[in-house]
Amino acid sequence: MPDTFTDEQRQFLQLLRLPVPGDPPPEVAPVKPAVKAVSAVPNRSVSAQMTPVSGLPAGLRNALPATAALSTATPLRSTSLLSKAETLQAPVLATQASTPSADPQRVTRIATLDWRDLNNMVSTCQACPLGETRKHAVFGAGNPRGSWLFVGEAPGAEEDRRGEAFVGRAGQLLDNMLRAMGLSREKDVYIANILKCRPPNNRDPLGPEVQACMPYLQRQIALLQPRVIVALGRFAAQGLLQVDTPLSQLRGTTQQHQGIPLIVTYHPAYLLRNPIDKRKVWEDLKRALGVFAELQK
Ligand code: URA
Repeated sequence: MPDTFTDEQRQFLQLLRLPVPGDPPPEVAPVKPAVKAVSAVPNRSVSAQMTPVSGLPAGLRNALPATAALSTATPLRSTSLLSKAETLQAPVLATQASTPSADPQRVTRIATLDWRDLNNMVSTCQACPLGETRKHAVFGAGNPRGSWLFVGEAPGAEEDRRGEAFVGRAGQLLDNMLRAMGLSREKDVYIANILKCRPPNNRDPLGPEVQACMPYLQRQIALLQPRVIVALGRFAAQGLLQVDTPLSQLRGTTQQHQGIPLIVTYHPAYLLRNPIDKRKVWEDLKRALGVFAELQK
């Protein structure tokens, strides 16, 4: 770690609950709950700023839990997924035999649905066995007219219970990341997952599950038309880019998904276990903000 920090770095570290060397530890306080999903598609918001961390609400820093509590907390996922998922492992791509859910007619039909019908289809989907084990399918959260799309892996237990994306501890960290970027779910960002249903015990998504679910995300992207996509973690990155390249090699350069710039970074749940890598995430998020700013010119 460097000895000195810019104000921007300092505020980012504080937002992400990392100690800033030389600063007293933050107080423990509850984190604001995540917002409800937006069901309609209002006008697109293009309000992200390149000066993201200035102008944060006073007292925000003290509204975050103590670093110690987080760094020792139980991981979001009960399996060793998080450490596995961010390191080199088997590819996400569907290499197993095709399932009926890969039926071209189904894929074609999904590609014609509007937002409401797509949501309805997802909520009753039985295209893979996860339809049997989920409590709720999780379509997404945030502003469908936002300029940004963040893509995660799959709902966790809390998301499955509530039917909303990123509302558990990883979601709280994601909200802090967004805040550090000067973005909010309510205005700027839509959040979706590669899988709409929770894999039992938060196990890794299987190839056929990804294959069955990808048409939904593809249609969401076609309807959302985000300016920038941020892929959170290996499954999101490899699923969107249709590669099996390790996450470490996908980070650091701007990728493209169907002509849309795509930035790869670590999954917030991974960061809960590996806070040391938050610095790399900040680099990725700054890259994303830079790409967005370029598009605004
Ligand atoms: N992790 C994800 O990838 N998505 C969620 O919605 C929650 C946790």
